[in-house]
Amino acid sequence: MTATIIDGKAIAEKLRLEITAEVARLKDQGRKLPGLAVVLVGNDPASEVYVGSKARQTDASGMRSFEHRLPAETSQQELLALIARLNADDDIDGILVQLPLPPHIDTDRVIEAVDPAKDVDGFHPVNAGRLMRALPSLVPCTPLGCMLLLNSVQPSLRGLHAVVVGRSNIVGKPIAQLLLQADCTVTMTHSRSRDLPTLCREADVLVAAVGRPEMVRGDWIKKGAIVIDVGINRLAVEGRPKGRLVGDVAFAEAREVAGAITPVPGGVGPMTIACLLKNTLQAAKARRRL
Ligand code: NDP
Repeated sequence: MTATIIDGKAIAEKLRLEITAEVARLKDQGRKLPGLAVVLVGNDPASEVYVGSKARQTDASGMRSFEHRLPAETSQQELLALIARLNADDDIDGILVQLPLPPHIDTDRVIEAVDPAKDVDGFHPVNAGRLMRALPSLVPCTPLGCMLLLNSVQPSLRGLHAVVVGRSNIVGKPIAQLLLQADCTVTMTHSRSRDLPTLCREADVLVAAVGRPEMVRGDWIKKGAIVIDVGINRLAVEGRPKGRLVGDVAFAEAREVAGAITPVPGGVGPMTIACLLKNTLQAAKARRRL
């Protein structure tokens, strides 16, 4: 059996086109264009790439992007002051502070400073709490993208056993909440879980969000399971300055067992920014009661 490859690039592109069409409709109606502010502190190379592509894709969708690139030595006070200005700015519907922040800045303080109505990353405790209570909220982009990928191959997840590997606040925990809302039976696992391979073998839906290259092996996967690989790990390869990207799942082995699987790259990754645009549009519509 060879798994269906879930084409995140194509699904993200379709979502972007839908968003672009909706933004164009808002424009035709003479409404203000949704605006996304992206804040980068410091010059982490990976973060710079992410921020650049977030801004480019925001512009391409017809929305307005506002980039704020601050030096690494920016103080917490200065960053909080910028966030306060963005919170008060009516042109801004979404605020994204690129993580990780430099170590002298308290990340939780910054996340909590963003107006929950503009929190397009869905990291604010108000949004996290609303997600837990299954109330309407801004949902973190990567988990939201994972659900769209799952639904592309399995519209109803009701009653399936989902196993999530990884319990971070930005990926593992919100995915588990969304799977629970989709009526899955959810098992959350982490670095202290005992006998992870056995737990994974129980999964009809397996989500790996760990950050360990190819940790989940083919023989950890139940025949026919849907596998969502969130991991992005860069392996050094001689002669290739950028190395090679692999997920948290050993793809070549897993595709022989799974029913459907996301590749890395080209699976979850492209969905994250598409869902950021989706959240920005949602925030704009909610703020303006459209
Ligand atoms: P974190 O480092 O915050 O969390 C990793 C989680 O994996 C932790 O809960 C940790 O457990 C668990 N873990 C670590 N080692 C093991 C192990 N040996 N067995 C079982 N569980 C383990 O990572 P993130 O959640 O932020 O990211 C996870 C991966 O997803 C990374 O590769 C990241 O690059 C990628 N990512 C991809 C995105 C995309 O757009 N595609 C977006 C965000 C992240 P514990 O809590 O016990 O320490």
